[in-house]
Amino acid sequence: MIVLKSKNEIALMREAGRIAAQTLEELRARIKPGETTLDLNNFAHSFITQRNAKPAFKGYRGFPASICTSINDEIVHGIPNAKRVLRDGDIISVDVGAVYQGFIGDSAWTFPVGAISADAKKLLEVTEGALWAGILLARPGKYLEDISAAVQDFAETRGYNVVREYVGHGVGRTMHEEPQIPNYRQGKKGPLLKPGMTLAIEPMVNAGAWETRTLRDKWTVVTQDGKLSAHFEHTVLVTETEPEILTKL
Ligand code: MG
Ligand code: MG
Repeated sequence: MIVLKSKNEIALMREAGRIAAQTLEELRARIKPGETTLDLNNFAHSFITQRNAKPAFKGYRGFPASICTSINDEIVHGIPNAKRVLRDGDIISVDVGAVYQGFIGDSAWTFPVGAISADAKKLLEVTEGALWAGILLARPGKYLEDISAAVQDFAETRGYNVVREYVGHGVGRTMHEEPQIPNYRQGKKGPLLKPGMTLAIEPMVNAGAWETRTLRDKWTVVTQDGKLSAHFEHTVLVTETEPEILTKL
């Protein structure tokens, strides 16, 4: 069942989303060579808790940290670590979830560390573009498949591949609500989009093939071929008219 949010619930989700967005913005300024992923995690943890919110990922299915930090060929669910030092030329995907008065805002962004290659830059541009292509279709009268197809086409027509095993999702009082939002066509329309739906749209785009594997830490998901991957995510409200980004500053 897809949960439609009331006006009051949407107001709380807006605040949760703002906190997640502010956290990412603060992290953006702190991402540079020499910084460790644990430093980023600890900063994010205190930033979120100081705003009367909680990091949504901490303890979620046993996840041991407050944010996910995934570097280069890591796609999602990387665990912050004191030994993981950012280097010039890396790309780092940071996934932040904030819970405010019981509602979750979920957003991710891939940032350059120092100066990155032209190839890496292109991957970031294409993945962000795929996110916006999907968001544009989050409006009444469209079907879920329209979002999936837009994301897939944006990436594939530019020579990239979308991850299959991990998908976007409805979000609200719980992190993963219905519907699942694949970044590729399912061959069926899926649910009709309606005002009040809150969707975490999150393309994960690989420079190489789409296949993934999980590291021995049981969390970190990497590309099977070792090539770069990027991840951009917003929590979006379907309204009567234009989609509203809830994870914005
Ligand atoms: Mg996320
Ligand atoms: Mg998500």
